[in-house]
Amino acid sequence: MFERFTKSVAMLASFLGCIAWTPANAAWQQRTQAIMGTRIAVELWHDDAAKGEAAIDAVMAEMHRIDDLMSHYKPESQLSHINARAAIAPVVVDRELFDLIAQALHFSEITAGAFDITYASVGYLYDYRHHVKPSELEIQAALPGVNWRHIELDREKHSVRFARPGMRIDLGGIGKGYAVDRGIAILRALGIEHAAVTAGGDTRIIGDRFGKPWIVGIRNPDDKSKIVTRMPLVDAAMSTSGDYERYFDEGGVRYHHIINPHTGHSASLVRSATILGPTATETDGLSKTAFVLGPEKALEIIDGLPQFDAIFVCNDGRVLYSKGLAPPSSH
Ligand code: ADP
Ligand code: MG
Repeated sequence: MFERFTKSVAMLASFLGCIAWTPANAAWQQRTQAIMGTRIAVELWHDDAAKGEAAIDAVMAEMHRIDDLMSHYKPESQLSHINARAAIAPVVVDRELFDLIAQALHFSEITAGAFDITYASVGYLYDYRHHVKPSELEIQAALPGVNWRHIELDREKHSVRFARPGMRIDLGGIGKGYAVDRGIAILRALGIEHAAVTAGGDTRIIGDRFGKPWIVGIRNPDDKSKIVTRMPLVDAAMSTSGDYERYFDEGGVRYHHIINPHTGHSASLVRSATILGPTATETDGLSKTAFVLGPEKALEIIDGLPQFDAIFVCNDGRVLYSKGLAPPSSH
């Protein structure tokens, strides 16, 4: 009798426990959508499934808004206005776009120019889908337009001017990270405590998965079904850049979408680079560095930034980790 009683109390307790942890409508919800020329994924936990869906709608709407403002494909975007006119006169833009361009210049500064949104002055000559690449002559003609120091910002008027003709900018290397951070800010404002937002290679996570970290994999550059390593993440951002995302191979050379601003050629000193840090705008702004400067120089830069870590897959298959991720030494 007593035994049966304790058993039913235990059952009742666990049933009540379930109620406490799982309100009737609570669920993990997730959606993926193609926006900004990439795959957007949102996953979150909400006590109320309808509110969870509305939160995902809000994140997707924000991605469209950012795309309309910053896409270089859209002739009416403010970014396209800059590219069309900033070599002639200063172009006034929204504070938001101005601030992101200013942040992009900061990343040029701390990566010795490896990250450079003016890469587009030569980058636009490539079309990976149609296997188009510029000739050496075309690259040399376009290269004078590549130099972040030739972007002139007026902080008061929030205007942008190009100091040289033939210049173009493209936020493809930082805009997705920024969009992810905006998505996370929206979810936070809605009181959501467990979520992941991804745009292309950029992800940010709020909270954990109820006591367990989120696990994100870093793929093998040559085989997407194989994982090089897995990282546990809680309240963090992660960006991975790879030479396998947009590319074509010709004559034994891989032409891919990360460009060395100094040469105008694809930057091929690593196969993939993953950066971990507090925000996706920052990890995105840093994930191109190793391709251009090489893994050793890039590790030096990351090891000098206390909030960031890195994992590089080198051309010879070696995997390098920044100090913060290195296994404890045996000494
Ligand atoms: P994803 O678009 O999946 O987030 P990345 O973060 O690796 O991929 O960004 C690659 C993009 O960055 C390119 O498609 C291009 O738009 C832009 N880019 C290429 N080279 C540079 C560079 N040297 N500096 C800044 N942006 C770059
Ligand atoms: Mg990115």
